[in-house]
Amino acid sequence: THFGFQTIAESMKESRVGAVFSSVAGNYDAMNDFMSLGIHRLWKDHFVRSLDPGHPSSISPSTPSSGWKILDVAGGTGDIAFRMLDHATTIHNDTSTSVLVADINPDMLNEGKKRALQTAYARSGRLEFMEANAESIPSIPSNSIDLYTVAFGIRNFTHKDAALREAFRILKPGGIFACLEFTPRLSNPLLNAVYKRWSFGAIPIIGQLVAGDRDSYQYLVESIERFPSQDEWRGMIEDAGFVTPQTAWEDLNGGIAAIHKGMKP
Ligand code: SAM
Repeated sequence: THFGFQTIAESMKESRVGAVFSSVAGNYDAMNDFMSLGIHRLWKDHFVRSLDPGHPSSISPSTPSSGWKILDVAGGTGDIAFRMLDHATTIHNDTSTSVLVADINPDMLNEGKKRALQTAYARSGRLEFMEANAESIPSIPSNSIDLYTVAFGIRNFTHKDAALREAFRILKPGGIFACLEFTPRLSNPLLNAVYKRWSFGAIPIIGQLVAGDRDSYQYLVESIERFPSQDEWRGMIEDAGFVTPQTAWEDLNGGIAAIHKGMKP
């Protein structure tokens, strides 16, 4: 990296990525708070509001009035799924929109299922969990999903281009791909230097102190560093066939994280 640290991410195999999330599943909220300086909750709220799930003027021409079919990939603990269902229900009085949470890691899914029991959605038929690798989800038919979301997940995928192509296949024409992810660099170079010092310096140490797991936290920091810039990422989304908006992407808090969207034509 630019900071002279040996990269764990580079040497990591997919199985090791799995171990990272098994290791952090129980401390998941704490991990997100450290990684985002506590603001991931606000970003997720904003992400969901900007997608307006359940809005009756349907997202794609082939969407019936029976609510949106949402796939939340790398959905782990259900953070995005619960927000989607809350939004559709309270803002649009829509009780038909449903979310399928797909994640590669059974421990994260178990955490999500446990949390779902505390919500009204557990036995509503509107929320399902599925173990799957985002790079290939053959059990989901082509052209069947209205909205594909992935929040703080895609930077962990080994083949991001394959995941984008799979998202494209699964979405209905007119369907939306939406991604919320950390960015490798903040727009202000000075703030960027401070932020990188915080993330490379402090986060692995905090991970050690709080979760007894320095390597997992160092991996998470490195995976951010290795993720493409906003512009490159937009290019990859377009390469998969999506049309991106003119505004291209939305930076959050000076570009610590960004929201990218693409529509399947
Ligand atoms: N979306 C949730 C959120 O925002 O709180 C969870 C994000 S968590 C940082 C990253 C998730 O990506 C983990 O649950 C991990 O298991 C999942 N993941 C990593 N690689 C994956 C893959 N190839 N396919 C599906 N999920 C994957």
